[in-house]
Amino acid sequence: MPKVLILGGGLTGLISAEILKEYSPIIIEKSDSVGGMAKTFREGPFFFEYGGHYLHFQKEDSLEFFKKFSGDLLKRERNSYVYLEGKFVRYPVQIFFPEAFPLYKQQILEEQREKKIDKTNYYTYLKTSFGNILFEKFFYPYNKKFWKTDLEEMDPKWSERYIPQTDEEKIENPTDNVGYNKVFYYPKNGIGELSQNLAKGKEIHLKTKVKAINIKEKIVYTNKGNFEYDFLVSTIPLEKLVVLSELGSYKMDFLSIIVLNIGVRGKMERDFSWLYLPEEKTPFFRVGKYILPESEGLFGLYFELSHKGAYPNINILFKEARKLMDSLGINGKAIKALFLNLKYAYPIIKLKEKVYIEMLLEQLENHTIFPAGRMGRWKYLTMEDSYFEAQRIKKIADLFFK
Ligand SMILES: Cc1cc2nc3c(=O)[nH]c(=O)nc-3n(C[C@H](O)[C@H](O)[C@H](O)COP(=O)(O)OP(=O)(O)OC[C@H]3O[C@@H](n4cnc5c(N)ncnc54)[C@H](O)[C@@H]3O)c2cc1C
Repeated sequence: MPKVLILGGGLTGLISAEILKEYSPIIIEKSDSVGGMAKTFREGPFFFEYGGHYLHFQKEDSLEFFKKFSGDLLKRERNSYVYLEGKFVRYPVQIFFPEAFPLYKQQILEEQREKKIDKTNYYTYLKTSFGNILFEKFFYPYNKKFWKTDLEEMDPKWSERYIPQTDEEKIENPTDNVGYNKVFYYPKNGIGELSQNLAKGKEIHLKTKVKAINIKEKIVYTNKGNFEYDFLVSTIPLEKLVVLSELGSYKMDFLSIIVLNIGVRGKMERDFSWLYLPEEKTPFFRVGKYILPESEGLFGLYFELSHKGAYPNINILFKEARKLMDSLGINGKAIKALFLNLKYAYPIIKLKEKVYIEMLLEQLENHTIFPAGRMGRWKYLTMEDSYFEAQRIKKIADLFFK
């Protein structure tokens, strides 16, 4: 029997193990539970996570796959806004901004009529797609606050999928029925339910951290012994994998995320799924309300802040969250809280690094190491993509073992 080893027990690792099950793969996971970024932490009645983790599907077969491992899925419609100058501007802002700030409507329409999209970098892409007003009022401040990176250094390609375009027609007849996440799904016991179900019946070594990889002898060294392999799938951050397999060392840029979860007994004057926060007066770039629990007067909020290593202390963040709640008309008592810090959350795709990353992936594959997943492949991927990643790996494995 060929030895298939999977590094990382997040969704990509678990779904790969499911799809590769004829090869009886073994999963190695450093933490004490599976799920990676897609975990649920139960705190009393609350379902805290690394921010709202919602499923959206491009393909029917992925929906079926996720349904199989999550039981019934709750289906919800996005109810999101940008909170700007004290107003709730319906998302997407590139369609609804003129409705909220009519003074700018003519100029925005004119800029849309004359637009020529320049994809040189993320900065030029945003500015030429949305025009000066939308760029200055929302796209620049929000992206600067979120990415904490020079936008001119960033590749715009990833964003085409996530940020819908606008035009005169859309602005004149605004509808929020656009974007990849207009409708989304959620397991009725939290996103973590998926990994718990996927883990059943699989050989998973928890609290087992990869310390080194001998790519010539095909051995993975961990704190709990050595694992030989013929075929290695890695979902651990690419930056780490390169060092562990002694193929070099190169600092790749990425974002970390703090998620301050607060369980509230109280009332929201205005309901929302999540709000984008472009202004500097709050350190958070987004605040959201979890789907669960669905009981009257009880709700879980998440306040998200991005960083590259330095961030305000927890007491300051709590005060900032309280301040934001007050300005949003969220009244009540915080009865539970959970502070989460996720180091590898978003890969930053820099234009100058693209070629290097492609070379690196090719080099690893030549050594039968197959990177997959969001930080594993250093690509801005979703949970549905974890399924596509697993399918891609299955095709490679079948060819390899044929
Ligand atoms: C704030 C945030 C919100 C998101 N919201 C959504 C959403 O609404 N919808 C959506 O579809 N997607 C969302 N995503 C993306 C989604 O979470 C990811 O695409 C998906 O969970 C990635 O799974 P993965 O297995 O590739 O990576 P991970 O979940 O990171 O799994 C990698 C695993 O490798 C383990 N590992 C790392 N190093 C080692 C080592 N040395 N040895 C052993 N194990 C190791 C880690 O512990 C981890 O369990 C969001 C992501 C973030 C950060």
